[in-house]
Amino acid sequence: MLNTSPDYRVIVIGGGHAGTEAALAAARTGAPTLLVTQNLDTIGQMSCNPAIGGIGKGHLVREIDALGGAMGRAADAAGIQFRVLNRRKGPAVRATRAQTDRALYRHAIRAAVEAEPNLTCFQDGVADLQVEGGRATGVVTTLGLTLSAPTVVLATGTFLGGRIHVGEARREGGRAGDAPANALAARLRELGLAADRLKTGTPPRIDGRTIDFARLTPQPGDEPRPVFSFMGDPSDHPRQVPCHIATTTPATHELIRANLERSPMFSGAIESNGPRYCPSIEDKVVRFADRDAHQIFVEPEGLDTHEVYPNGISTSLPFDVQQALVQTLPGFEAARITRPGYAIEYDFLDPRGLRPSLESRELPGLYLAGQINGTTGYEEAGAQGLLAGLNAARAAADLPAWTPGRDEAYLGVMVDDLITRGTREPYRMFTSRAEYRLLLREDNADLRLTPVGRELGLVDDHRFAAFQVRQNTIEAEQNRLATTTIRAGEVGDELAREVLGQPLDRNQHLADLLRRPETEYYALHRLPGAGEPTARADVAEQVTVQARYAGYIERQLAENARQERHAHRSIPDELDFRAVPGLSTEVAEKLGRHRPSTLGQAGRIDGVTPAALSLLLVHLHRWG
Ligand code: FAD
Repeated sequence: MLNTSPDYRVIVIGGGHAGTEAALAAARTGAPTLLVTQNLDTIGQMSCNPAIGGIGKGHLVREIDALGGAMGRAADAAGIQFRVLNRRKGPAVRATRAQTDRALYRHAIRAAVEAEPNLTCFQDGVADLQVEGGRATGVVTTLGLTLSAPTVVLATGTFLGGRIHVGEARREGGRAGDAPANALAARLRELGLAADRLKTGTPPRIDGRTIDFARLTPQPGDEPRPVFSFMGDPSDHPRQVPCHIATTTPATHELIRANLERSPMFSGAIESNGPRYCPSIEDKVVRFADRDAHQIFVEPEGLDTHEVYPNGISTSLPFDVQQALVQTLPGFEAARITRPGYAIEYDFLDPRGLRPSLESRELPGLYLAGQINGTTGYEEAGAQGLLAGLNAARAAADLPAWTPGRDEAYLGVMVDDLITRGTREPYRMFTSRAEYRLLLREDNADLRLTPVGRELGLVDDHRFAAFQVRQNTIEAEQNRLATTTIRAGEVGDELAREVLGQPLDRNQHLADLLRRPETEYYALHRLPGAGEPTARADVAEQVTVQARYAGYIERQLAENARQERHAHRSIPDELDFRAVPGLSTEVAEKLGRHRPSTLGQAGRIDGVTPAALSLLLVHLHRWG
């Protein structure tokens, strides 16, 4: 067959959130990269809610951004309502979330893709993988073109064997309006990659002109308005609009109960698991039978459309029930559905078959990212895409993979969770998944990752220069705070009470005063001798967080170092766990099934005890 490839080093399949970050990351490192996707017009398309971020997910967006990725900047260019979730809680769990304009988001991602010099796009479906000598060496498209490269990234989302359900009606589809990737799904199973099924769902969309918004509670965005990108500014944002809050009623729940057997999830037509933390409305009504109201966030789909997204009533009930259900909501009595809600079942590949680089163990040269690995969410997909694209490019250049640890990035936590434990339901990120969450904050994602991103070739000069200015300003401000003394004799009791909550009884450095939870950075500068505060709010925030949490962070770092000593000890692929003296057959089998790459990963497998780890460690020492 005709080989149309010039010297591509990486081919990425799929122009969704994983695929675009993968292609951009590979290309940023200098690797000539080809993105093959079913439809160029759906590059960056959001399949479900047009919203980016949230708890755990916002952290991933900031990490993608810190590594030079596109998602944060696109969210800034498209965000129409911004909020900081958990604002009153500690900085570790604070998270940015934006409702976005669906079309603006797509345009921003497409523009980023088109602006990347080493990246070529091609519209076609991929029907087959080219495999030579047990390695993936390219793709074959539905047109019959063979395109070759030393590495391939597979990021096909919900499209593999996708099957859409609306009540009793069923049809094949990758998502509403798009064809599924059936030939490729069959081929992956044929290649022996362990596949299983998962399910997700989406609510009906509604014509906003048929909703009585006066009866809903408006929810404006936050001021001051946060930004996602470390390079961003609120002036990047388009016009801002509010979201609204509505609720279900006992009539809604009664209607759902009466029609449960018509929902494919309850009739048995769908057997695969859906996202536990994003359940359908029929699930919620059954699981929380004692509640007579559930909140619904009524979110705009964009600035130039009347369509709204009723977040909280994802459903696969038949269309007639959906229409009646929507009209039981106060303010929605005359509401008209523009697009029915639906559930979709699709193939995913068991992520335990992946290395920490996201390369398939079974088929070297093939990297997997996004929903295909059992995750849900744009942010989870984007972060994996960046890692897979980067590592595919590095492998093609004979460079070692970059594999961030659980203490370095949420990206490291997610990949480690997936490849070590696998998943039985769509995996989404939460801050509670990170044992080092005091270290892995949204606010310091650049301080954690931009220097390594620069070394890896992901961060351009412009971003790195801005990062260095920020880093130097933070350090200079920390030095100033550590060396500026506030003299007790110069501060009147009244002012001290206002600023510090109590009189100042001894001379202290500004840095020590900032450590007290009741003090505020800018207020401190009312004290005589405090000097001029920094004009940069991000620097003020960073020095405050670092001063206040230094003690906790030190403790976490010490604990971290203790565990580190052994956690990174690698386990050779060829190690036969049954040959480890003293290890129980059950644990040996479990380790054999999961094939952890490091002792740290082995320790996180259910049932692998510290004693078993010690035996393994001794054996590894002997092994060499
Ligand atoms: P996708 O965004 O699906 O992108 C896949 C891309 O690959 C597409 O561009 C497609 O055209 C292309 N492609 C597929 N097959 C081929 C092929 N053979 N050849 C070439 N190109 C191909 N996430 C949440 O966080 N919460 C939710 O509640 C939620 N609900 C959802 C409901 C529905 C109905 C759907 C469909 C998705 C939902 N999601 C939800 C998931 C979210 O959309 C995905 O997590 C995210 O889009 C995954 O990104 P991805 O890049 O892996 O795949």
